[in-house]
Amino acid sequence: MSDAVLELKSVTKSYNQGLPNQIDVLRGVDLALQSGEMVALVAPSGAGKSTLLHIAGLLDAPDGGSVHVAGQNVSGKGDGTRTSLRRQDVGFVYQFHHLLPEFTALENIILPQLANGSSQADAAARAAELLSLVGLSDRAGHRPAALSGGEQQRVAFCRALANAPRVLLADEPTGNLDPGTSDQVFAALMDLVAGTGLSALVATHNPDLAARMDRRVKLENGVLVDL
Ligand code: ADP
Repeated sequence: MSDAVLELKSVTKSYNQGLPNQIDVLRGVDLALQSGEMVALVAPSGAGKSTLLHIAGLLDAPDGGSVHVAGQNVSGKGDGTRTSLRRQDVGFVYQFHHLLPEFTALENIILPQLANGSSQADAAARAAELLSLVGLSDRAGHRPAALSGGEQQRVAFCRALANAPRVLLADEPTGNLDPGTSDQVFAALMDLVAGTGLSALVATHNPDLAARMDRRVKLENGVLVDL
């Protein structure tokens, strides 16, 4: 038995199934993310990276194969179970921060915790702790528009980790930043992950960042190959 936190087994996904323009994006993807492991996902544009991340994050279901979270086969479960597993166990970060503009940095990190049943006091304490880990304690009261791109992304990481998920899925989280800022934001992510046992699958075009992760996989012709 595997002790992988997130496992994809023979996952397939096609678009326009049965039509002349059918695209077989994933043709049998196998991936096992171990606890505490950071894996870089490298893929040329259009290779199916977003499709893979959506399936791994339980936002979309595969056509074939199965997805397992903490040993539990999610594929056969109903929408309710998938949604609650996603809320508890998976954190997302995208290329753009998607923070709520009318709320402060601190409030953006508090809100998902309230939705998950935390008390206001606990949620505020955790949000403050996360902001301190990424060096943004003095920006807690700022709204996203008053933060730099790198600061916004660091807050987005904190929000993704607010409910202490097992897995972080990131879709080019530094793709929108200049190289210096990108480095800083990645370092903040490493600080957040250090010692927590969190696993991360991070799609990136940046070879320097990919090199700093535990291992690298490439999505090629619908399957994952080790780099
Ligand atoms: P990436 O994130 O690597 O750029 P995507 O997963 O977004 O790739 O897309 C992979 C392929 O599947 C692309 O050719 C894209 O045009 C196609 N595709 C993605 N979503 C859909 C959809 N909803 N319907 C039809 N084709 C899609």
